[in-house]
Amino acid sequence: MMLEGPERDSITPGYCKGYSQDVDVIRAREYPLLNDITYLDHAGTTPYAKSLVEKFAQELTTNLFGNPHSMSASSQLSTRRIDDVRLRTLRFFNASPDEFDLVFVANTTAAVKLVAETLRDVDESSGFWYGYHVDSHTSLVGLRELAKAGSRCFLTDGEVDAWTAGSGSGDHHTRLFSYPAQSNMNGRRLPLRWCEALRRSNVLTLLDVASLVSTSPLDLSNASAAPDFTALSFYKIFGFPDLGALIVRKSTTAHLFQRRRYFGGGTVDMVLTAGSQWHAKKDSSIHDLLEDGTLPFHNIIALDFAMETHQRLYGSMSNVSAHTRFLAMWLHDRLSDLTHANGVKACEIYKSVDSDFMDTTTQGAIIAFNLRSSRNRWVGKSDVEKLAAVRNIQIRSGSLCNPGGTALSLGWSSSELRRNYSLGLRCGDEHDVMGGRPTGALRVSLGAMSNMKDVDTLVGFIEEFYVDSSTRPIIPITPLLNRGDSTDRSRFYVESLCVYPIKSCGAFRVPDGMRWEIKREGLACDREWCLIHQGTGMVLSQKKYPRMALIHPFLDLDRGVLRITTCGGMASSEQKKSIEVSLSREASNMVPTPLCQKSTKKSSIVCGDQVTVQTYVSPAVSAFFTDFLGVPCTLARFPPQSYAPRYAQSWREHITTTDTPYSNQAMPGAFPQDPLFPSATRVEKRNPLLLANESPILLISRSSVNRLNETIKATTTTTTTTTEHNSSRLGKTVAADVFRGNIVVAESLSHAGDTEQPYIEDLWSGVRLGAHGLHLDILGSCQRCQMVCVDQFSGVRRDEPFSTLAKTRKSDGKVLFGRHAALSSWEFHHDDDNETGSNLIVDSRTVMVGDIVVPSYLNDE
Ligand SMILES: *Cc1c(COP(=O)(O)O)cnc(C)c1O
Repeated sequence: MMLEGPERDSITPGYCKGYSQDVDVIRAREYPLLNDITYLDHAGTTPYAKSLVEKFAQELTTNLFGNPHSMSASSQLSTRRIDDVRLRTLRFFNASPDEFDLVFVANTTAAVKLVAETLRDVDESSGFWYGYHVDSHTSLVGLRELAKAGSRCFLTDGEVDAWTAGSGSGDHHTRLFSYPAQSNMNGRRLPLRWCEALRRSNVLTLLDVASLVSTSPLDLSNASAAPDFTALSFYKIFGFPDLGALIVRKSTTAHLFQRRRYFGGGTVDMVLTAGSQWHAKKDSSIHDLLEDGTLPFHNIIALDFAMETHQRLYGSMSNVSAHTRFLAMWLHDRLSDLTHANGVKACEIYKSVDSDFMDTTTQGAIIAFNLRSSRNRWVGKSDVEKLAAVRNIQIRSGSLCNPGGTALSLGWSSSELRRNYSLGLRCGDEHDVMGGRPTGALRVSLGAMSNMKDVDTLVGFIEEFYVDSSTRPIIPITPLLNRGDSTDRSRFYVESLCVYPIKSCGAFRVPDGMRWEIKREGLACDREWCLIHQGTGMVLSQKKYPRMALIHPFLDLDRGVLRITTCGGMASSEQKKSIEVSLSREASNMVPTPLCQKSTKKSSIVCGDQVTVQTYVSPAVSAFFTDFLGVPCTLARFPPQSYAPRYAQSWREHITTTDTPYSNQAMPGAFPQDPLFPSATRVEKRNPLLLANESPILLISRSSVNRLNETIKATTTTTTTTTEHNSSRLGKTVAADVFRGNIVVAESLSHAGDTEQPYIEDLWSGVRLGAHGLHLDILGSCQRCQMVCVDQFSGVRRDEPFSTLAKTRKSDGKVLFGRHAALSSWEFHHDDDNETGSNLIVDSRTVMVGDIVVPSYLNDE
């Protein structure tokens, strides 16, 4: 169902209905930061309106707000405002101040912890019992660790219903049941009836409304049906402030809070410290008892403006609910319709059987899904996320802080998940598919200011890259070898040579006529230095800091220095600056520093003792890089012969473990091998090199770069899609530099009628270089990421060539361009055989621009 223009307006119940203006008008004025962005992570946080921040800023600059715990006029002003906002917030949820109190906390998680801490103190000897629904957010699951009297995870609504019906008051423990009003994973809305039903059985209820309230009203007007505790975060509704609340039903919870043991500034009337240890808690209200320390009073004042702005723009939460319901329904229909030309559905949506996008009591504006190729294989969620990022589409992926819901949707059992953990799966990493099944999902979520264009852009993006239509020819990734040409293999030569002395920074071009040494670990001086973050101790990368491309190292061998120059890129007004460090290793201005390495993408940072770098201590050196990049960092050098640890997660290891790349690596905290799955530890068979982030030498073909540019140009002139990106796509051809290769190989077309052989290098198994025929083994293809979109001359990120690569050079979900290579082990056999004569051979391990390149082919072996 695709509806356009006026037709759309007449049958779009709810779409920006009741809003102050058309949603696109509101978007343009209030959310300029979303201009070129398709933001679909409102369940993470929704963006804030510009006028909210402006009004708040004005309030702060025209009033003096003091710490609320005092008598001064400024303090009284703060106190008064807090009282007013507290009431206004209760009313926002239709909660009567006679029945409810509202406690300001940092966020939902803090609200949950406050409940946990309170119940733990109610009866210290026997503790409390805890039940929670499987759809719970991680923050609710963690509460079970404090439940001394035991806990239970309810796997279905039916289990909860059955338990509710029969859970009389036989149990003498304090009992708490918690669940989310809406799953933050797939937007399913859970029944609110349980709160009232459980009250009859003397079970306390904690309702997590964090996800629900971002696109739905919450109505607490019927206190007897309301939860005892309600937890939420305001940034999810308004974008700002970063603040949360615990709303408590006074009649059922006041006595519990009296028993909470901790007190802090703000929650006591008198404390004796010398002599007898006595204190008197405040008892004027529940929030007085619970709000330890100084309230985030500026944030609370901001909340006032947040509610005011929201009402001015959108009218009510009901309007937002209707608007997002319409968009979610439409998005859901379009995603469900996506089908490959061969009939295979492209999109698997994780939706509960009893949710209905028409019905806001069962489903909110969140969709979790995975993509499938036409050959019925799962597309890795991180691959989609990477490509989406290139197109400025922001979505979320992973297990989405919802362990139970994700496992249930994807069909993983606990023992399987433990096995995956043992094999290296971590929250936020790139183990997307294990044993042929997805480990996580993609999530898109809508908000008050989402519009049709957001939906169109996302669906268009998926259609463009992930749906095989019959009209698009399938381009074979490996070219057919033209046997006529195969006799003439010396047409290839080294066009240019680059080393990257500082990892992720600019290239040093080896001058023509100079022979350059190739070592076991790569070209001499390649990635011998790096920049490390002074706070985290991690190596910086261009992926995060594109300006690193503008740091140009120059190896001045005559003077024995590495000279590093920065140039401004686009902003040419920036002064060129440079600094020199000695190439000699004797320098006394370095200290050994253990390098921090990430074991996975985002999680568990292991500060390893395995790699130690030499850090430059000179403040001038760190200031030079820090000023240029705007991140606290300094230069470091890998110690000599430390290259093996430098490739700690070495390409060599991965090559030998093709079938089970993870099984030999005992991760920290790994479970013992599960005897149930002895040989089932076979993870996806992948190209081994895809796992290594560095290889000794990267080889790029000039002909392939040319072909890629032709394709980019061709799609530019023929596509007429609606996105802004395309207007600027002209002139999006790329230089070979974006691929950051070490050796660029070109073809000399000596005979008339000769044509280039793009991508012929995909078939190479090795090359011999120069007059001595130095052997390099080709190890595999290089997997590409967004980093190729950083223009190496301006440091600016674009969407090419990754977009075109993703369409033309994808194999098994991986985008491939260029070949990894290393000195052949054959070269070293010579060393062993011939100790005395080895000098000669070592001398010949060099390469020079113009050297002839003789490839050998996979099918020749
Ligand atoms: C976001 C969210 C939370 C956690 O909120 P914090 O602000 O990170 O504490 C908890 N539960 C649900 C359902 C959520 O959506």
